[in-house]
Amino acid sequence: SMASPALLMRVVASAYSVAEKAATIVRNVMSAGDLGIVEKAGPNDLQTKADRLVQMSICASLARKFPKVTIIGEEELPTDDVTEDLIEDGHCEEILKKPCPAQYTGIKEEELVIWVDPLDGTKEYTEGLLDHVTVLIGIAYGGKAIAGVINQPYYNYEAGANAVLGRTIWGVLGMGAFGFQLTEAPAGKHIVVTTRSHSSALVNECIAALNPDAVIRVGGAGNKIIQLIEGKASAYVFASPGCKKWDTCAPEAILHAVGGKITDIRGNPFQYNKEVKHMNSAGVLATLRNYDYYASRIPNTVKESLVP
Ligand code: AMP
Ligand code: MG
Ligand code: MG
Repeated sequence: SMASPALLMRVVASAYSVAEKAATIVRNVMSAGDLGIVEKAGPNDLQTKADRLVQMSICASLARKFPKVTIIGEEELPTDDVTEDLIEDGHCEEILKKPCPAQYTGIKEEELVIWVDPLDGTKEYTEGLLDHVTVLIGIAYGGKAIAGVINQPYYNYEAGANAVLGRTIWGVLGMGAFGFQLTEAPAGKHIVVTTRSHSSALVNECIAALNPDAVIRVGGAGNKIIQLIEGKASAYVFASPGCKKWDTCAPEAILHAVGGKITDIRGNPFQYNKEVKHMNSAGVLATLRNYDYYASRIPNTVKESLVP
């Protein structure tokens, strides 16, 4: 008989379905109209009913199937029992059929850490910039982001009523990434994508030093990595603390799976073991191509202002 699929592929296949359920919750909360907005650190750090319900759904669904995996979600929530309607127990058959990269076939549950951002781009969600929103499920092993799922619940929402709404992008290191068309950014142009709602003097000083041809300001770490892999931007530059491990884990796995690179502004790789500090204090620098071009142009004064 066929050997049962490797744990990593079962986790990714489940995360895919769990992220699709999450997207349904994100859309349902918006169409119901009561976002239940709570300020966390301040007016630019929000939580909605969708952030809360989706985190409960993702974490409880994955914990039920993979009880020994460490799951770290963004939101601090009461540990009440999750209602059964939030549980997703399905998986994506197509993912389960793919062979696991050899270096990951022996992974055990207790060796995985799953980083969950139930709703990335919450500020933009509350402002109706719906295609900025993503659901992020990142899977780490040995401190490295090795697999990830990015669901974009409102992909296509401006394409009209007949367009299929939403999509799920997933990837595994050594296997590639799927659910989108890998596209190169315009050759010879330096298009920087950065924050829309968390700018600072340092963020802008760093971008100015790169002398870009264009700057795109959009919400969400997941959304900005999508801009890179679809050729809309050539570098994601964020010279500020604020972004956390759950923002970068799934995007990192997908970007690395297609040959891109993400580090902090000083060039240090991110670590994703369960003990790690959540904050990416030294910012984010990510590209699909030409990482060194951007890294070599970040001013030392900017690097020195950001302490990892
Ligand atoms: P942005 O590019 O502003 O959408 O940020 C990407 C991710 O990092 C989002 O999840 C933000 O909520 C988070 N983030 C970035 N800067 C901050 C900040 N100053 N305070 C809170 N969250 C932040
Ligand atoms: Mg986020
Ligand atoms: Mg979030």
